[in-house]
Amino acid sequence: MNAAFYTLGCKLNQIETESIADAFRRGGFSLVSWEQGADLAVINTCTVTSRAEQKARRVIRLALSRCKTVLLTGCSARSGEEAALAGSRAERLVIIPGTAKDTLLDLPRFLADTGKAEGRSLRAWAAERLRAGAENADPEKKTPKRQFRFNPSNFSFHSRAFLKIQDGCDRSCAYCRVPLVRGRSVSLDAAEVLARLRDLETRGFDEAVLTAVNLCQYEGGRNFAGLLELLLEGTERIALRLSSIDPALALDDAFIRAASDRRIRPHFHLSVQSGSDAVLAAMGRPYTRDSVGRAVSRLREAKDDPFIACDIITGFPGEDEGAFLETRALCGELDFAGIHAFPFSRRPGTRAFSLKNRVPERLAVLRVGELLALSRTGRRRYAGRWLGKTVEAVRLGEQKKSLFCAALADNYLKVGIKSDRLPPRGAFLCELKALNGGDNGGTENFDMTGEIARG
Ligand code: SF4
Repeated sequence: MNAAFYTLGCKLNQIETESIADAFRRGGFSLVSWEQGADLAVINTCTVTSRAEQKARRVIRLALSRCKTVLLTGCSARSGEEAALAGSRAERLVIIPGTAKDTLLDLPRFLADTGKAEGRSLRAWAAERLRAGAENADPEKKTPKRQFRFNPSNFSFHSRAFLKIQDGCDRSCAYCRVPLVRGRSVSLDAAEVLARLRDLETRGFDEAVLTAVNLCQYEGGRNFAGLLELLLEGTERIALRLSSIDPALALDDAFIRAASDRRIRPHFHLSVQSGSDAVLAAMGRPYTRDSVGRAVSRLREAKDDPFIACDIITGFPGEDEGAFLETRALCGELDFAGIHAFPFSRRPGTRAFSLKNRVPERLAVLRVGELLALSRTGRRRYAGRWLGKTVEAVRLGEQKKSLFCAALADNYLKVGIKSDRLPPRGAFLCELKALNGGDNGGTENFDMTGEIARG
C-alpha cells in the first residue's frame, strides 16, 4: 500500500506531517507524490486565512479524483462542510479533527493488521480512537502527551530537522483562530526537549528548527530563555534556528544572552503585524511600535548583522492611510531583510470578524504589494552586505534542474552552490561570491551563489 501527503500552513503542520509520514514509512508504506494518485492521501490543513481554506478545498477535490481514500486533518478539518464538498465521493473522505491528529500516527499499524483502508472502516476506526482519546484525556495536565507524539525518526520532505516544543496559545489576538483550533498553550518538558535534541545531534543533524505556535509561551519547567540555556549546555555541535518570536521576547535580557551564542542561528522572524500603535492595540498585540524598534536593536547587538524578518497584516479594520504609512515607515526604518505581508482575512469566531471600519480587500492587497517591494530591496541590500564573506551553510534537499544545489546559510540566505562540489550531507563553510541575477544561469531561486570555502 502507498500513501501521499499534502501540508498547508505553518512549520508545526510541517513537522506533524513529517511525523505521520515517518510512521507510514516505518510501517512499510511507500511514500508517493499525491499528484500521481495513492491508496491513501493525508491532507493537513490550515485555517489562518480564508485563502488557506479555499486552497485546502481545491486539494481535497483533486485528491478525491486521484486517490482511493482521503484523510483530512489539521486546523480547518471540519466534518460537515468537507463532506458536503465531497458529494458522492464523501464515502472516501475521512475527517480527523486537528486536535486528534496524532491518532494518524497509529493508523499504519491498524492498516497492517486489518488491511482495511476504505472510508467506512477508517471512519469507524477514527471514531473509536476519538472516543478512547476523550475517555483518557486529563485536561488539568499542563504537559499533555498527545500534542508531542510528533517526533519523527526521519524527515521525508525536509533536509533540516524540526523539533516541536510548544502548541496552542493562551492569548486571543483579534484576528487569530489558532487558540480556537489548537487550544490552550502546552509545552514539552525541558528535559524531554533536550533528550530529543541530543538524539538529533547523535543522528548527524547539524541544525534543528525549534517549532511552536508561540515560543514566548513555552513553559516546560523553564521559560524559553531558560530552555535555550539548557539546550546549549546539554549539546555540543547542533545549531538551533528559531521559528517566529514576539518582539517582546527580544527585550528579555536572558533571551538576548542565550541568543548571542554562536550556535543560535543569526536569523530572527518577528511577528510584528503592524507599525501603528492604534492598529496594534485593536489587534490586541502586547507591544508598541517603539518596542519593535528596541527589539530589533537588541537582536542586532546580540549578533553580527542577523537576518531579521517580520510578519505584517495589512488592511486590518481601522487601518487608514496614516496607519499604513506608519507601518511602511517602520519597515523602512528597521531595514528588515524580509517582510512577510498578507492581507487581513476575516476569520469566523474571532473578535475582528465583526469589527467595523473594514478596509477594501483591493486596498489591503495593494499595501501588501508595497511592503513586498520593500522586502525585495531589503533582502538584496542584506545579501549585498555579505558578499565575499564566509558563512556556515547546510544543504537543502537534492539538486533539481540547474547546475546549482540549494544551501541555506546560517543567516537564512539561500545560496546556490555548484552541485558537484557539495557534500551530500552536513554543514560546511561557504564563501558568498555573487548576488543572484548574475550571469550564472539558474540562480533565480537563490539570494546568492557561493563556493565551498577553502582550507
Ligand atoms: S499570539 Fe496571537 S496571533 Fe499568535 S497564535 Fe496566539 S492568538 Fe494567534
